[in-house]
Amino acid sequence: MEALDVHENNENFKEHSPLTETRSSDLDPSTSQTAKRKFAEIETNNSPQDTKLFKAEKFWDFSLESDVVVMEGAPCIFLPPIPEVEFFRFNLVKQMRDEYQDICKQNEGIDAPQESFNRWLLERKITDKGTDPILPTACCNDVSPAMFREIIHDVPIRISKIKSCSDARRQLFRYGEAAKHMIESRNLSLESRKVVKWHIEDTLSWLRKEQNAVLTDYLNRLAHIRRQCGPHLVEAARFSVENICKKMYFIAQENAKKLLDKHHAVLRLYKIDVPAPLQPSGKLCPVKPVPMLCATPMLTNSITQVAIKGTVSLTYNANTLRINHRYLEKLEQLYRCSCKDDPTMQLFLPRVWCLLRRYQTFFGPNQYEGIMLHGALPTQVFQCLHDTFGVTMECFASPLNCFYKHYSSAFADTDTYFGSSGPILQFFPVRGSFEANAPFVEELMEAMVDHFEKLLKQSNEPLSFIVFVPEWRDPTPVALLRMENSAFKRKQVLIPAFEHEYRSGLHHAAPQKEVYHKAVHGTLIFFLQNDPGFELWGPTQQRLRKLITAFKPVARHHNRQQD
Ligand code: SAH
Repeated sequence: MEALDVHENNENFKEHSPLTETRSSDLDPSTSQTAKRKFAEIETNNSPQDTKLFKAEKFWDFSLESDVVVMEGAPCIFLPPIPEVEFFRFNLVKQMRDEYQDICKQNEGIDAPQESFNRWLLERKITDKGTDPILPTACCNDVSPAMFREIIHDVPIRISKIKSCSDARRQLFRYGEAAKHMIESRNLSLESRKVVKWHIEDTLSWLRKEQNAVLTDYLNRLAHIRRQCGPHLVEAARFSVENICKKMYFIAQENAKKLLDKHHAVLRLYKIDVPAPLQPSGKLCPVKPVPMLCATPMLTNSITQVAIKGTVSLTYNANTLRINHRYLEKLEQLYRCSCKDDPTMQLFLPRVWCLLRRYQTFFGPNQYEGIMLHGALPTQVFQCLHDTFGVTMECFASPLNCFYKHYSSAFADTDTYFGSSGPILQFFPVRGSFEANAPFVEELMEAMVDHFEKLLKQSNEPLSFIVFVPEWRDPTPVALLRMENSAFKRKQVLIPAFEHEYRSGLHHAAPQKEVYHKAVHGTLIFFLQNDPGFELWGPTQQRLRKLITAFKPVARHHNRQQD
């Protein structure tokens, strides 16, 4: 593997070195506050000239053909999307979000950690073999490690970003009080109780005596008490936090049953039989959307459409969803390329409505929620990945954020009509060059690395994955460590925080000016390739320079001006 010498041309973009690490406090994936702050910046930074440029930008390019070859998988076992069922699913998931908040409050006295419900859904789907496209019902364990980790992290209180000396003092005091309450109300061993009690008393007496302490004194004290008491409090809370995870999983199973019953009832009304699942054929074939097992009922006139100022409102049964007009056109292009069972486009609007309903259910109800899990690379980068590294597919995408017409996505059932090959872990390419920008969920990122390594091991055809991950350290996620030490790694490059941008995950429905936001974390790019893949698409210095240049926000502006 050759050494990358990008420093001479561009000192801002560096090959990975410990000296370029960013502090993890800046990288907290769950701080949607950060996302909000970023968006506020964008709103104030955008000039009318910028807005004009956004309008000129090409956010997808479906003229790019793919040479990907795959081992054909089984048809999708989920039933075809139907607005009535999708609406029911939305209501059940909404209720579950409230239930999650209530259970966290009741059991642990904390708010449900931000977006942890979303990450739970994503993590559960890694092993789920159940009947619902969004709710987990048949996972390999009841207790989600992601949900457990995120709740326990906030026990006995969530330490929020410390802004001042008085804030640090207040949080230290609250921690002590909450820990005291825990040892009084939970089952702890005598020894644990003694240790925690001693540290609390020591801290509270320090707080009473020390009136002139500075910020670092408080931070050191807080770190110290968390280090000393944390493990004992985790043990005290383990049983109850595991119960929260089990309860949520149980509710998901119950709700999935209700959904399946309703779905079957609607299909029966339309006299549509549900065939038995099929085995994968295992044949090699060019990439294509995942086939559905079951036909869709002809649902006509169920959706009304109203266009207002560049956005379109689609309403089913008084439930209205909005999409930017340009994105509705995008979906139509994808539908015409990919959908085989609806030549007259009768099902187009019901399927778009179900797709929007699904993704909004998945994102969550709050403004900017889900934004961190669906951020996309700049279009300039996608163009460069295609021109320079032969990339023709995204491993993690949706019909709303895809750049290429072929991609893997979370929901085979709603997305297949718009070109999706289904979830990445059920997709088995043997040849091709891929881009992968996974949602920031540690377990999913780890499963992705496992999957890519297996595929690379099995294939003698050129195969390449260019993987983009946040540069989290302290601790470094397993996925990142695995890629750093992978036998298939050809190169790793760091694009530092605040020197590059991501596209909003809500771009399809957000105002045009809210498209790009600065990355608050560094992005690491890994090139995982087998030997034939390296020969064809290896990260040479020249190619890397092009990719690094494409990441510069300024390059994006120049290119759009030239368009
Ligand atoms: N396509 C863009 C945006 C990626 S955001 C890019 O590559 O830059 C991550 C996307 O992964 C989201 O759209 C999310 O819905 C999707 N996703 C989630 N789970 C997935 C899975 N198991 N397989 C494929 N895509 C998935």
